[in-house]
Amino acid sequence: MLTCDAAVVGGGVVGAAIAYGLAGLKLDTVLIDEGDVAFRAARGNFGLVWVQSKGIGCPPYANLTRGSADHWLSLAEELNEVAGVDVAYSRQGGVHLCLGEAEFSERAALMKQLEAETQGDFKYEMLNYRALAEMLPGLGPDVTGGSYSVLDGHANPLFLLRGLHAGFRKRAGRALLNAPVRSIRPHAGVFNVQAGNETVQARKVVLAAGLANAKLGPEVGLEVPVHPLRGQILVSEKVRSFLRIPTLHVRQTAEGSVLMGDSHEDVGFDDGTRPDIMAEIARRATRAFPFLSSARIVRAWGALRVMTPDGIPIYAQSESCPGAFCVATHSGITLAASHAFDLPRSIAAGSLPAELDAFGTGRFDVH
Ligand SMILES: Cc1cc2nc3c(=O)[nH]c(=O)nc-3n(C[C@H](O)[C@H](O)[C@H](O)COP(=O)(O)OP(=O)(O)OC[C@H]3O[C@@H](n4cnc5c(N)ncnc54)[C@H](O)[C@@H]3O)c2cc1C
Repeated sequence: MLTCDAAVVGGGVVGAAIAYGLAGLKLDTVLIDEGDVAFRAARGNFGLVWVQSKGIGCPPYANLTRGSADHWLSLAEELNEVAGVDVAYSRQGGVHLCLGEAEFSERAALMKQLEAETQGDFKYEMLNYRALAEMLPGLGPDVTGGSYSVLDGHANPLFLLRGLHAGFRKRAGRALLNAPVRSIRPHAGVFNVQAGNETVQARKVVLAAGLANAKLGPEVGLEVPVHPLRGQILVSEKVRSFLRIPTLHVRQTAEGSVLMGDSHEDVGFDDGTRPDIMAEIARRATRAFPFLSSARIVRAWGALRVMTPDGIPIYAQSESCPGAFCVATHSGITLAASHAFDLPRSIAAGSLPAELDAFGTGRFDVH
């Protein structure tokens, strides 16, 4: 039996960030992961640290996103220092490109709403084609304009995952890999977590198992209504450096390849790819940047987002089993700084702060 202060179930980007933070607070922490058989959004995402458009209609989510993005540089620097991993973070703004007047007006209305809901703290500009073309060389004539926010950024999500795991180990965290959690039994103020052939006894348990939270939540009295929503991404060969700042659907990595995304498909637990969807993604990307039509696609994948019914993250502590927490979000890269810095302090203290009240699972109760 392994005993510890905290067991984190799920070694994706969410669980790894929380475990890294808990270990930094000197909690003896065990990070448990199922291994390669699982659906893992953390390995298939686009790498944006995105503020514009997150939390429209839900100011607490907009504030949470903004707070995390504002601490991202500290996280990147810390991971470099603690783990020796450069996560290739850059914050020089980001652009949501609009193809056609209808998209542009719809976007302008959404940005106005977000600005009003965040009391003017949200910085953005609606830019026409001309202004954007100066910022984004190679922009195609089909682009009408777009929204630009200086608050957005991007990073290499795989390096982030590696950095969090390496940092966790450097902080004396213990990882239990290839160990699927089958049951969690609360007993006399501790949780007995059955993981593979091992039992982990922990004073606190954090469910961060992505889509598997739906199955594991009831073990500790939590209903976690998450469902998969597939996104497909195409990756080009390395091309000349042309895109200094990311756009929502096209971003260039530090190495030179171009990521093109993404789709929103309700196809259950199918993480495959489909030629018609890939063609649509490529069409949109080449309308935005026509020269990409001569770049070769070298990789493509589908990955499943961890979606809640209202698209807003879940942060909850169980009422029937205090000490058991659950986190689920489809914005795990953007929120990584909040998960590594703020959330672990609350978990260690044993209660979630009032700022997270809007994210509880009670909002899904049907009366
Ligand atoms: C196409 C796409 C693009 C995206 N783009 C962005 C983006 O640009 N910016 C952004 O912020 N977010 C983005 N996301 C979302 C982001 O990737 C997710 O929020 C994040 O990966 C969720 O992380 P997670 O750790 O909760 O889940 P996962 O990555 O799914 O990890 C869950 C982990 O739990 C483990 N697990 C599951 N069941 C068990 C069990 N029973 N026992 C032990 N371990 C278990 C699995 O092995 C897995 O490692 C994107 C997602 C997709 C799909």
